[in-house]
Amino acid sequence: MERRSFLKTTSVAALAATATSTAAQIIPPYKKSPRIAIGGIASECSTYSRIRSRLENFRVLRGEQITNSEQFTFLKRYDVPFLPTLVANAGSGGPISRDAYESLKAEYLGMLRALLPLDGVYCAMHGAMFVEGMTDAEGDWYEATRQVVGPDCLISASYDLHGNVSQKIVDNLDCITAYRTAPHVDRVENTMRATDMLTHCLRYGLKPSIVWATVPVGLAGEQSSTEWDPGRRLWAYLSEYNRQPGVLDVSQLVGYVWADEPRSAASVCVTGFDPALQARIAAELAQRYWNARAEFKFGSPTGTIRETIATAMAAGTQPVVISDSGDNPGGGGNADQTHFLQAIMKAGAKNVLIGGMTDKPATDACYAAGVGKTIPLSVGATLDPVESKPVKVNATVKYLHPVTDPAEGQAVIEFDGITMTLSSKRRAYHAAEAFRDLKLEPTAFKIVVLKCGYLNPTMKPLANPHLMALSPGAIDQDIPHIANKHRVPTFPWVQKLQYAPRPYRSVRSVRA
Ligand SMILES: [Zn+2]
Repeated sequence: MERRSFLKTTSVAALAATATSTAAQIIPPYKKSPRIAIGGIASECSTYSRIRSRLENFRVLRGEQITNSEQFTFLKRYDVPFLPTLVANAGSGGPISRDAYESLKAEYLGMLRALLPLDGVYCAMHGAMFVEGMTDAEGDWYEATRQVVGPDCLISASYDLHGNVSQKIVDNLDCITAYRTAPHVDRVENTMRATDMLTHCLRYGLKPSIVWATVPVGLAGEQSSTEWDPGRRLWAYLSEYNRQPGVLDVSQLVGYVWADEPRSAASVCVTGFDPALQARIAAELAQRYWNARAEFKFGSPTGTIRETIATAMAAGTQPVVISDSGDNPGGGGNADQTHFLQAIMKAGAKNVLIGGMTDKPATDACYAAGVGKTIPLSVGATLDPVESKPVKVNATVKYLHPVTDPAEGQAVIEFDGITMTLSSKRRAYHAAEAFRDLKLEPTAFKIVVLKCGYLNPTMKPLANPHLMALSPGAIDQDIPHIANKHRVPTFPWVQKLQYAPRPYRSVRSVRA
């Protein structure tokens, strides 16, 4: 199973060129069963957010919780066990508090030490983590990992397409791979590329290394879809390059634009055994990406909040789905901003469904009142009361989701021709199922407002049509106008920028 998955996702030619047996032969057993650990920390942190991810905001898997989890079921396919440490995930949000990061890191490193000696480590990451008082948090994580496991251990990391890379990261890793699709529909393939590379290299005693090139382009996540050009075209090149002998993985990352730190940029990372070839590939892809920088565009018509509401109210079709894109929790938004709610109430729009307002006090009040009751509610702006203000409504409680833990509460309320979902914690209402779970049918509404960017594959066919409001928030999509203090000169803030790709080799390739 391991062999089949490896061949499916990476280069057959690379196998033939680098291994002692060809891909057509039976893969030999390990000379000595390798000891491979798994651990990691994943979050996508907007530095423009006022909220903080604290320890209680992380989902932390420890020990066998990792290997028994659905996310890592695929590890059971390998003929060598993965030794679990700690995998922490805070999703998308604001910066991580320093205390939370240091606490999770110390626990992880302690578990790693207890597993020594190790031949390999698989790091399950995202790549856009920002920790208070720190830049390049992933670089810090890998550097600490390397110090524990030593120079001979192989470390392989899986990344989101929206991860940021640095020289420190590359210098401490041996393999890196990132999603190749946005929206991300290749999560399993991506993580398996990272573990396939690791087990393959350990089996054959190979020492891969990374060559990377940064591309100083800051791009809104919603412009980076691989479903339309230039994203579709630029990512389509990857598999061809990946087939070349001596190449294990070719990844091209958009980067995470809402982290204002020096490493925040697009990049190309090539893992393999031929640094000269890897450098050529990195340079070619980086140059193509740079050349296409002005071509990236949103996949749907955009406008201000007021413009998109006016278009939706005048439309003869339904549901007109509008993305309240600046407040999308899937990209780091709070999901508690009220700019859109205020505007749509002012416009007098009726038969509207608004999905995804996070408000614990209001949700608790709905549970306390019960279904059918009409109560005065203050809605929104509980996580960040500075960016927007709460809205006072008289709301009828239409539905309460049955839960045992109040932190998981979800309510449906109705007021002034508007139906709205409330939730105790930040939650994405991107898929049609998220509404159907609450007994709501999106197609029954004239206007559906989602705190999202590009549409989820289940929502896309329902939108008639889709509009994207360039609304304020922690992930404001109006990139040229967001603050930019810590980046190197980067497009689009600097329009006239000279750029020539300069691929950098990992110090580990020099060592090898
Ligand atoms: Zn992403």
